[in-house]
Amino acid sequence: MAKLYKNKSNNIDYFIINLHELTEYNCLEKSICDKCLKELKKDEKIILIPILNEAYDYECGKEKVNWLNNIQNHSTDYEIQRRRTEFYIRFFKHINSWEG
Ligand SMILES: [Zn+2]
Repeated sequence: MAKLYKNKSNNIDYFIINLHELTEYNCLEKSICDKCLKELKKDEKIILIPILNEAYDYECGKEKVNWLNNIQNHSTDYEIQRRRTEFYIRFFKHINSWEG
């Protein structure tokens, strides 16, 4: 089940999802980590970051969230993040895979 988290220090949203949920969204036969390009596996925790519109294996995702800690966000980025996060929440609800 997809779940939304918020990084406390800079309010970056990220989802923890599984391969099934990612595949429902991207319709790809194989999904890869957008950082290390490793193939994502079934039963693996996947981190989806709306502001980047990218998905990572758990280790790379955590690194990205930490890296974003050091980035100063502009208010326009927050608006993009808000819209994308809402979009993904609607999508996960639509496929009955939303935990909240
Ligand atoms: Zn990776």
